[in-house]
Amino acid sequence: MVEPPREMVGPAPPVPLPTNTRVHAEGAVGVHLSSYVCRAIASVAPESAHAVAIQPGRVDTVVAAIIEAVHAVASSPQLVVIGLPGNVDEAHGSVNAASNLGSEWQGVVPLAQRVAERLGCPVELRNDTDTAMQGERRRGALIGCSDGALVTLSTGVGVCLLRDGVQFPTELGHSVSQFGGPRCLGRAHAGCYETYLGGWALPLRYREWHPGFEGTHHSQIPDDAAFWHECGRRLGDLVLTMCFSGQPLEAVSFIGSVSLARQHHLLPAVHERVREEIALLDTVPRSLRVTPLGEATVVLGAFLHARDLLFPFLAA
Ligand SMILES: [Zn+2]
Repeated sequence: MVEPPREMVGPAPPVPLPTNTRVHAEGAVGVHLSSYVCRAIASVAPESAHAVAIQPGRVDTVVAAIIEAVHAVASSPQLVVIGLPGNVDEAHGSVNAASNLGSEWQGVVPLAQRVAERLGCPVELRNDTDTAMQGERRRGALIGCSDGALVTLSTGVGVCLLRDGVQFPTELGHSVSQFGGPRCLGRAHAGCYETYLGGWALPLRYREWHPGFEGTHHSQIPDDAAFWHECGRRLGDLVLTMCFSGQPLEAVSFIGSVSLARQHHLLPAVHERVREEIALLDTVPRSLRVTPLGEATVVLGAFLHARDLLFPFLAA
């Protein structure tokens, strides 16, 4: 799946949910808010999923999109969990520095309160990395895994570690891969993994290979085997960095629009890079794969979290 162009506002493509894992929990709703789409689900079944395309910008517009998406899947929601980018203050239900959502989001936005007033039910906010990890651990590529990692390749590069069953969101996407490399966006450092693998950076890197390239979005980069193989080897370096950090790493799951669209080039190169260094590794990941949940990882994790809060004694 490739991200739709940002000008598009209105109905979005349906949320592709795994139909073999149907779960219903009356009133529990999960929402995934990203810079281009708002998805909501009220059960793990495609007939109760809804997506609204949005444009980065005003808080009011995004709140309206959330209300529309929630009401499309649940006429009387009891509890809504929203997974979104930015620094989330779970206790106060606010988000800070979610600048991917637009300029009005650079400060603190009391989003939970704004949405709860309109819906008339409690609303919880979670960082999208946390909800994605929930989705992967319970329905995705990290089932039964206690020590692993989730790597998101979309606009940026996100890394969440799983150590002895506990989730640790990290800034490893901004660890330096190449000192003296390209400048990062909005940060003081240079040469981090995001400057090579982030969706915003990929068109810039491709233009270094092919100066005539005029695209501005990673989806416009051709299916160029040599370029994407090089990206995959860089991604392999990131996996090796995690392996060398001292924690056992049983499995790594890759999510996000770049991973989904380019996995046929990226994954073989990641495996190649890990094999090259295998003699140095204490633990070799037994699984390096792209999520089987497609674009639904975050919204699925948000829904399962809402269901846990409403019905704490249901099975996983
Ligand atoms: Zn960086």
